[in-house]
Amino acid sequence: MRTILIVGAGFSGVACAIQLLRGAGEQPLRVLLLNRSGRMARGMAYGTQSPQHLLNVVAANMSVLPDDPEHFLHYASMRDSRVTGASFVARSVYGDYLEWSLRQAQSQAARHVALDCVSGSVSRLQAIDDGRLAATLEDGRRIEADRVVLAFGHFAAPPPALLHGSLVDSVRYAADPWQAGLLSTIGVHEPVLLLGTGLTAVDIALQLLRRNPAQRVHALSRHGLLPQPYLPPTGQLAGSTLLRDGVPTARGALRAFLQQVECLEAAGLDWHDAMAALRHQAAHIWQGWPPAERRRFLRHLRPYWEVHRHQLPPTVQQELTLAMERGALRVTAGRAISVRDEAELSVLSVQPRGEDTQIELRAARIINCTGSCASPRRAQVPLVRQLLADGLVQADALGMGLKVGADCAVLGADGAPTPGLYYIGPWLKAGYWEASAVPELRQFAAVIARACL
Ligand SMILES: Cc1cc2nc3c(=O)[nH]c(=O)nc-3n(C[C@H](O)[C@H](O)[C@H](O)COP(=O)(O)OP(=O)(O)OC[C@H]3O[C@@H](n4cnc5c(N)ncnc54)[C@H](O)[C@@H]3O)c2cc1C
Repeated sequence: MRTILIVGAGFSGVACAIQLLRGAGEQPLRVLLLNRSGRMARGMAYGTQSPQHLLNVVAANMSVLPDDPEHFLHYASMRDSRVTGASFVARSVYGDYLEWSLRQAQSQAARHVALDCVSGSVSRLQAIDDGRLAATLEDGRRIEADRVVLAFGHFAAPPPALLHGSLVDSVRYAADPWQAGLLSTIGVHEPVLLLGTGLTAVDIALQLLRRNPAQRVHALSRHGLLPQPYLPPTGQLAGSTLLRDGVPTARGALRAFLQQVECLEAAGLDWHDAMAALRHQAAHIWQGWPPAERRRFLRHLRPYWEVHRHQLPPTVQQELTLAMERGALRVTAGRAISVRDEAELSVLSVQPRGEDTQIELRAARIINCTGSCASPRRAQVPLVRQLLADGLVQADALGMGLKVGADCAVLGADGAPTPGLYYIGPWLKAGYWEASAVPELRQFAAVIARACL
């Protein structure tokens, strides 16, 4: 019997398992879904239990099945008849949906196809005979497989260099904003500093302020930009390929994009339609750029891309606006220069963007909301280190992820595909840029399943 091992049961691993169960042919097949922590089919994004943590994509676009776009909508509206395609559903409901979809695929699979869900953490992976691979688990178990899909997802970002060792190791600093129970360890009167001003920082800030509207919360990022509110695209530019061709530079792409926005504005619309159309062309544009252009985009345009691409659900936007209007949440654009301890507080000296005078921010707790670790080389993860050291995987030069071939086959240090090894997850950004949300990941899962089978 062939065995396909999937390392990680967040969205990516579960989407692959579902595709394998649905697509298996006549041969007996065992799909082994291995997960290190938390429940199956949850992962970093959908493991939250808070009903106030909402998806940032409307229900109509969140199906796990690329060939059944309304799959999630049917599930969510079965649970709550008020849900429509335009609703922003709780992320915990989405976790339930993923688990339900996995069980549905399992019960509908042919009799010669088996799914095993196992708790365990892979610490080592080696190539063995005949292109097969062997995984060693932390507890010493060994699993041999014909194919392995790495779906190990997000890892905590390393702390900013200026935060010194004793602070980073103390309870004052939290590396993972989604760590279970984190907020219950923070006093309701303690001033909190969030590093980052993206969707995660907004979620954490509002969660703190719902407990105590008077808590002092400060968010800091280089540009101080907050995610823009979501507006449904009108479909005006659906299918547009304006930016696909002839934009060999980041500057050229920006110019073409702004021209498109001007046309939309002349028609009484705004940038949302241009962004929605651009999203579908992003991988193509990214792949057409040499490393120097990609680097230029990352340095100059990325912050603006992030806040326009990752938008806030309208109810969250309203809550955020109120919190900022009454001064409960403050946002600073600037660069942290140094940090020192002062009694119960850490004091960050910050150089505000575009200003000469430094300011000081005082916080009893500092939470890193800058996103997960983008670069495999910086991940403090034994399995990733071993894969890099043994040349089974290769990190891209820009520190954006792992190098893969067309069907997500992992490229080794020599540039050739490592036999039997595939990758799906946030580190696909290296090759595709726009790759880490459900609408893209579900397509990759289908591609990988076809290649594995
Ligand atoms: C907070 C948040 C909200 C998001 N909201 C949305 C949204 O609304 N809409 C959208 O389209 N996208 C959203 N995304 C993006 C996207 O859906 C996620 O990035 C996606 O879920 C990634 O899933 P993953 O399985 O690759 O990684 P993860 O969710 O990180 O899952 C990886 C799993 O692998 C396990 N694992 C790790 N190492 C090992 C090991 N060595 N052995 C065994 N198991 C291991 C982990 O325990 C974990 O369960 C969100 C992302 C985040 C972080």
